[in-house]
Amino acid sequence: MAQPVFHGPDHDHERCTADALAHAEALCAQRSQRLTPIRRQVLEVLLESHKPLGAYEIMDRTAPSGSRPAPITIYRALDFLRDNGLVHRIESRNAFVACVNNHAVGDLVVFLICEHCGAVGEAPSAAVAEQLKTAARGAGFRPKAPVIEISGICAHCQRHEQAG
Ligand SMILES: [Zn+2]
Ligand SMILES: [Zn+2]
Ligand SMILES: [Zn+2]
Repeated sequence: MAQPVFHGPDHDHERCTADALAHAEALCAQRSQRLTPIRRQVLEVLLESHKPLGAYEIMDRTAPSGSRPAPITIYRALDFLRDNGLVHRIESRNAFVACVNNHAVGDLVVFLICEHCGAVGEAPSAAVAEQLKTAARGAGFRPKAPVIEISGICAHCQRHEQAG
């Protein structure tokens, strides 16, 4: 089944969140990893939208009622979630976004970042990855995971621009 690359504001986000959490639980069980309460909380905070959040924003939202977890606790939870492909870091924003596309951890993902609404879409592309790695190897370089971030305007915001 083809997954939408970009989740517009009119999509069924509850479903999105439920699927992503179910996927996270299944994945952790399968790998004998524990989705501890703090790891789950951080993931839930990120799943509130498809917009990236900085570590401090995550921290604030993890404990709205007071006792904020220490930064190291948040970073450790983020490391775990990233290692398991449940969360991505958006380098250009120094922020994190929950992955709702079920792709392999090492896959090259092209991140599409909307400058208007801030939403992030993912377009996994094995073909692009191969070309980049070939180019890097051709230069005698040993590539790890390439990151591609493209900023622009999402389809929803484009429609808005035209309408307004
Ligand atoms: Zn969603
Ligand atoms: Zn992803
Ligand atoms: Zn947008």
